[in-house]
Amino acid sequence: MSKGTAPAFTGSADELWLIIAECFGVEQPTFQGEGPSCGCPALFIRLSRCNLTCRRCDTKYTWDWSQFDPHEESTKQPVAHLLEWALSSPVELVVITGGEPLIQQRALISLVQGLLAAGKRVEFETNGTLVPDPALLMDGVQFNVSPKIASFGVSKEQRLVPAALEAFAACGRAAFKFVARTVPDLDEVAELVDAYGLAPVWVMPEGTTADALIATTRVLADAVVARHWHFSTRLHVLAFADARGR
Ligand code: SF4
Repeated sequence: MSKGTAPAFTGSADELWLIIAECFGVEQPTFQGEGPSCGCPALFIRLSRCNLTCRRCDTKYTWDWSQFDPHEESTKQPVAHLLEWALSSPVELVVITGGEPLIQQRALISLVQGLLAAGKRVEFETNGTLVPDPALLMDGVQFNVSPKIASFGVSKEQRLVPAALEAFAACGRAAFKFVARTVPDLDEVAELVDAYGLAPVWVMPEGTTADALIATTRVLADAVVARHWHFSTRLHVLAFADARGR
């Protein structure tokens, strides 16, 4: 836990801003609800925009401009402002999510450098379709990589990018988190795990209500533990009823 001193920026001036959907966790504390750090106090910086169009996306306000107005749902914010916001909290973990945050990864380098210099640690939530910039592969950074399976309704060519998956598998800083609804979904996950050498594997039940989450957890549990994979819940759904900004 730490509050930091002024970070050293290394990006050029035109990189020092990001398109943001929302930031939360300072004014109203929360925790990481999913994956390896589930239950850890966390701040969230949610970037706007995505390179996929998953039909089961639960953050369409970051990219689906047929339903949402980008001028209402996103703001362009200086990296320095985001750092000041994050460093105002003693919470150590900062989750950078989206949308797809790595679309803006060149500008994110400065933000991550500043957060790490101030004693924070960073988790990226990414769909695993973009090769991470080597400058982001720093101590204190972890990638929660969530490749999409066929039921998300995106073409295989779009949702599975071998070069990106191989880069994450080799970087030593990635956990692979798959959202699933059915046992056959897990067979598809196993094929991807084997094809790309993905480890460690986390499975997370789909669901945006407590009832749905519990039901899917019970459908998947035996098949997940039989494969010796990790299992996650969605704690924010159970605790806060999937309220936006929690
Ligand atoms: S990759 Fe994630 S944010 Fe992007 S459309 Fe799919 S579910 Fe939504």
